[in-house]
Amino acid sequence: MKIYDRVLDGLPGEKTLLLGNEAIARGFVEAAGGVAATYPGTPSSEVGDTLSEIAARGGFYFEISVNEKVALEVAYSAAISGIRSFAFMKHVGLNVAADALMSTAYSGVRAGMVVMTADDPSMFSSQNEQDNRHYAELSHLPMIEPSTPQEAKDYLIRAFEISEKLAMPVLFRTTTRVSHMRAPVVMGPKEDRLALMGTYPGHLAHVTLPSYSIKSRKALSMRISHAEVISQQTDLNRLEVYGDGEYGFITSGSAYNSLVDVIKSNSIGAEVLKVGMSNPIPENRIASFLMSHEYMFVVEELDPYLEQKVRVIAQREGIPALIHGKLDGTFPEEYEYSADVIEKALAAPLKLNIKPRTAPAVLQQIPPRPPALCPGCPHRATYYAVKRAVRMSGLNNVTYSSDIGCYSLGAYEPFEMADVLLEMGSSLGAGSGLGKLTDSRVVAFVGDSTFFHAGIPALINAVRTGSRMTLVVMDNSTTAMTGQQTNPGLAYDGMGNPSAQMSIEEIIRSTGVGSLETADPYDLKTFLPAVLRSLKSEGVSAVVARRECAILRDREIRKKGQMPVYVVDTKKCALCMNCVTNFSCPAIDIKGGQIAIDPDLCDGCGVCAEPMVCPFRAIVSGERNGI
Ligand code: SF4
Ligand code: SF4
Repeated sequence: MKIYDRVLDGLPGEKTLLLGNEAIARGFVEAAGGVAATYPGTPSSEVGDTLSEIAARGGFYFEISVNEKVALEVAYSAAISGIRSFAFMKHVGLNVAADALMSTAYSGVRAGMVVMTADDPSMFSSQNEQDNRHYAELSHLPMIEPSTPQEAKDYLIRAFEISEKLAMPVLFRTTTRVSHMRAPVVMGPKEDRLALMGTYPGHLAHVTLPSYSIKSRKALSMRISHAEVISQQTDLNRLEVYGDGEYGFITSGSAYNSLVDVIKSNSIGAEVLKVGMSNPIPENRIASFLMSHEYMFVVEELDPYLEQKVRVIAQREGIPALIHGKLDGTFPEEYEYSADVIEKALAAPLKLNIKPRTAPAVLQQIPPRPPALCPGCPHRATYYAVKRAVRMSGLNNVTYSSDIGCYSLGAYEPFEMADVLLEMGSSLGAGSGLGKLTDSRVVAFVGDSTFFHAGIPALINAVRTGSRMTLVVMDNSTTAMTGQQTNPGLAYDGMGNPSAQMSIEEIIRSTGVGSLETADPYDLKTFLPAVLRSLKSEGVSAVVARRECAILRDREIRKKGQMPVYVVDTKKCALCMNCVTNFSCPAIDIKGGQIAIDPDLCDGCGVCAEPMVCPFRAIVSGERNGI
């Protein structure tokens, strides 16, 4: 049985090895969720990948929305219509959705609504490591934090229940380790399915005009008071005792797992208050916990969110416990907490005799690998051509504004074509400003999904303000970086059903850009002149670089039993090194003083065979067993 089928069909009591994100999808199924909406973002993406596969058979609605704000609004619309709903996204996605989120606390909901944020300590796939627990405080919404896949599933169901008790959305926070940890999960029973078709909430039922919000604010305070009572009583906040329980620890999320590892491996006598509901925190329980320990350690990833609250409680109640955390320098402020990090921090105060943990031998043997675009990636050809076109154009003051996607790798050698990169859509927003306010010609790179997500308003801004910008839309016909999800440029939706397909060209044209070209970056001889013409155009110009993602293409040609490969004719090769130095496909290497193409890596795109890459025509189509 496939993992997706197990998520949907697993029987109560069955134990299945699940990724945290798959367990969350199972929690949604067990909670009889009716609507789920997302915009893909690592580390949350596998929740959507799983729900997408099982939605039709599971009888619920799933959508990949155009961005996180819309995903949250879609989920909200379901919840106010009486359908349990779930919006999920990566941590920075919640910034996009924050405008809507803030008002949902005032408006309230009629059925359970959970909003998941997947935070990314250590920034494995993100531009920052913001701690989204602050959003719970800011929005006045309760927050639940699981530590394991089992808890991720179980706590999601609890989050729906709490949401319905309080008639407000509940935030659900994971981190990369929780979302991407794989562990056995015991399946629970599925609740009866709620009606999928909601009922209209009624005139003015959920309006946040000031005159209504003034009244809602009081109701919100009452909901928060009720949430505090829940937090005091719930077993989501629990006490664990190890040995004589001498030292007190307060922790949450993924840091809990590493902490328990350290406590057990060093036989530390400890009592651990694990906070599973981190907004509002259980203040009375924390106060009595503080009173029973002379030494208290607050172990949490990212900001001293719990620690600050614990210190306030101690000060307010006059409790003399010695509190150690980030604020006194015991623990580091940055990055995720492995067991090593926690053990090192506790070594001095607890006089631990720690032995450095060594990475498994196999890990030590892996050579460092710089990030690189895949062999056959059309973005490589795009960067190569744009770089040459800029050189040929005679423009000597070009600023490259980049964006979030696989193509962000254009920032690295050999292309080095990213001077500015902030967040989704910033290539056009920052590009709009730079092209207006500096003497640079801006070249802005954006992917198809990112263009729809946040690029369109900034493009309008650039045209309206007369910015000097050439927009290159790198349309690889998928949302590649997060796992090949759909986007509005494709003719199918998040459940695989046919859907309306938006034309990138028509959207761009409607803004009134000076010129618009569409070309295939694999075909350098037509693509490069198109870029060159665009660079010479006044104001805002655009090139749509359209060629599907190499991974999608490989899948298709493998299905047909074909897998072309290119080889180097060493008799023709002049060792000019252009293919290695400037084009830099990972399949091309130097072996024994000769250029060689690794047939296991080559995906047969053929771009390196173009005279613009190999002027000596030494790269030719071959067969897997040689020329
Ligand atoms: S054909 Fe050339 S550029 Fe394309 S994947 Fe093979 S080696 Fe790389
Ligand atoms: S570009 Fe062509 S001639 Fe130059 S090193 Fe590569 S294979 Fe040889």
